[in-house]
Amino acid sequence: MRHNFGAGPCILPQEVFKQASSAVLDFKDGLSILEISHRSPEFEGVVEETVRLIKELLNVPSGYSVLLLQGGASLQFSMVPMNLLPDGKTAAYLETGVWANKAIKEVKHFGKANIVASSKESNFTFIPKDYVIPEDSAYFHYTSNNTIYGTELFTLPVTKVPVVCDMSSDIMSRQIDVSQYDLIYAGAQKNIGPAGLTIVIVKDEILGKTGRSIPSMLDYQSHIDGGSMYNTPPVFSIYVAMLNLRWLKSKGGIAEIEKENIAKARALYTEIDRNTLFRGTCAIEDRSRMNVCFVMENPELEKPFAKFADENGFEGLKGHRSVGGFRASMYNALPVTSVHALIDLMQNFEETHKNNK
Ligand SMILES: *Cc1c(COP(=O)(O)O)cnc(C)c1O
Repeated sequence: MRHNFGAGPCILPQEVFKQASSAVLDFKDGLSILEISHRSPEFEGVVEETVRLIKELLNVPSGYSVLLLQGGASLQFSMVPMNLLPDGKTAAYLETGVWANKAIKEVKHFGKANIVASSKESNFTFIPKDYVIPEDSAYFHYTSNNTIYGTELFTLPVTKVPVVCDMSSDIMSRQIDVSQYDLIYAGAQKNIGPAGLTIVIVKDEILGKTGRSIPSMLDYQSHIDGGSMYNTPPVFSIYVAMLNLRWLKSKGGIAEIEKENIAKARALYTEIDRNTLFRGTCAIEDRSRMNVCFVMENPELEKPFAKFADENGFEGLKGHRSVGGFRASMYNALPVTSVHALIDLMQNFEETHKNNK
């Protein structure tokens, strides 16, 4: 089996794949999960359990709704300002990478984006720290983990303004205090399940204040009122996400997976810092636990290392084109043994290439 370090859609546990494939053949009385009614009691049970597991694992307080939507995190770039930003008003955005950038781009259809800080000039190798969020901002938006650049924001800035977070690539990887947020969104395919499902966790009281008329499918309130069944939901993606959330719960929940994620990241960064051939690309204090970006001191060795990795069963290590080099994505389901295998690979490569650095 190959070690899957791909950035997304992500690796999921083998047992989840097995259970999902058996439900394709027989979910209930010989019927496939793909052919049953989404209004059947069995599928309503799947939606109910998925929402319950999200609430339980993330300790979602009362007063928040958990929504299972479609359109990816990318649709949230528009739905957030459409639902939260009154016409012509300003929202504060932290610019930490391509995804933040794309979120900023959509604001102009509704109001103004005020970029409170940016690390664009250094190709997003760090997270800006000292900035002011004006108190009259409609909300403050940031990306908790920058999947492409390998930076992660671990402490939330103190602000009275409602906080909106794109948590696509680190949701469920570490404990968070949901009460500090007003809206969290995440495409499922980085750490929760397959593509096609988007999770939104929204504080009910912030909705309905823009005075704007919003098309039903783009209005969080329709999905709250419809219990995430306003229209046909992504049935199979929800089912597989539910299986994965069950797996996460059986492992001891987020507290336990966080310990594992810390250990995986520490082991790999330690090797990157020790190995004479490799170098990390980000500010040490902002290093992501989910996406570890690194390059080679001698760029001419990058192709041979990529080939060596491929021949030895490693998948998805190529860095994003805007950073180059390598990116090891280490989502929840990536086994610790794969991380150790990668470290061994880097050490073996160093052994045979010591003289060409
Ligand atoms: C992948 C990713 C997105 C885009 O998600 P889609 O579901 O493809 O729209 C947005 N934000 C972050 C942080 C991501 O990692």
